[in-house]
Amino acid sequence: MVQHLSTKREGPTVLITANIHGDECTGLGVVIRLLNQLSAQLYCGDIWLFPSLNPQGLQRSMRVFPADGQDLNRVFPGEKKGRASQKHIYAIAGMITKIQPDLVLDLHTDSGSAIPYVLLDRAVQSKNKKLERSLLGFARASHLTPVWEYPLRAYLRFGLDKTLSGFVLNQLGVPSLTLEVGPRRRMDIASIAIMKEAVFGILARQGMLNIAFVPNHQPIAGVWTRTNGPLSKTGGVVFPSCEPGTILEKGMEIAVLYSVTGVELERFVAPERVLILAFPDQGWLQAHRSCATLAKEVHQEA
Ligand SMILES: [Zn+2]
Repeated sequence: MVQHLSTKREGPTVLITANIHGDECTGLGVVIRLLNQLSAQLYCGDIWLFPSLNPQGLQRSMRVFPADGQDLNRVFPGEKKGRASQKHIYAIAGMITKIQPDLVLDLHTDSGSAIPYVLLDRAVQSKNKKLERSLLGFARASHLTPVWEYPLRAYLRFGLDKTLSGFVLNQLGVPSLTLEVGPRRRMDIASIAIMKEAVFGILARQGMLNIAFVPNHQPIAGVWTRTNGPLSKTGGVVFPSCEPGTILEKGMEIAVLYSVTGVELERFVAPERVLILAFPDQGWLQAHRSCATLAKEVHQEA
């Protein structure tokens, strides 16, 4: 389940996890690439790699844990004698805690119609606020667009402190990032290259590589925070009005909802100035779902 690359030279311990959502395999592809390439390029420190935290989900192309249908990335730190998903996460949380990493990168994907971005967690306790602010430096080094999670109240309401990265930041007091790159359900080599480069950028910032790091990918300027998109009143065919990565001013059109016979049902517009992070993977949008994943700009750096 876990691989260890050690240089025997003093340096940071970085832990990289992937595929906790079984249908998100870009991160698994990145870990396979890292296992093949990194040992020759690692100068100091230790890297621990978890290629798949949900192998059964991977085999079935399922986001959740097949044994009980739970989202593994909402049950940290798990329970020793809970349901299957809680026991599974309890074991993983124990392994992460034992390794005592200095930094954790959890690799995810959003949708097939998304920009590459990096999510920054919220510190639940005020003693961890400085740690929260430190995340931006790591995120910048990834050259992905940095996006803060929802503000604290919504962060807790959505159970995001029970994600792997939320657990690492808030329970272990260790910086952690969630990288979101590529489509679900397939190995997209362009996305794997972008995400691998993002990992290399972060390792280079830590002084862990013996090669010069030259980024190819450039982030969208600014610092952003997740915000809710307009919800559909009814189900329908969602037709995006722009590409992901577009910045829309307030009132500009995000998407249009049609019936299956092509009749316009709803028009979704930007509630304020927003960046489109992703459109849904499916052509059909269920009722009361967001027509897009959005972020709004934050003017302070945290
Ligand atoms: Zn995911």
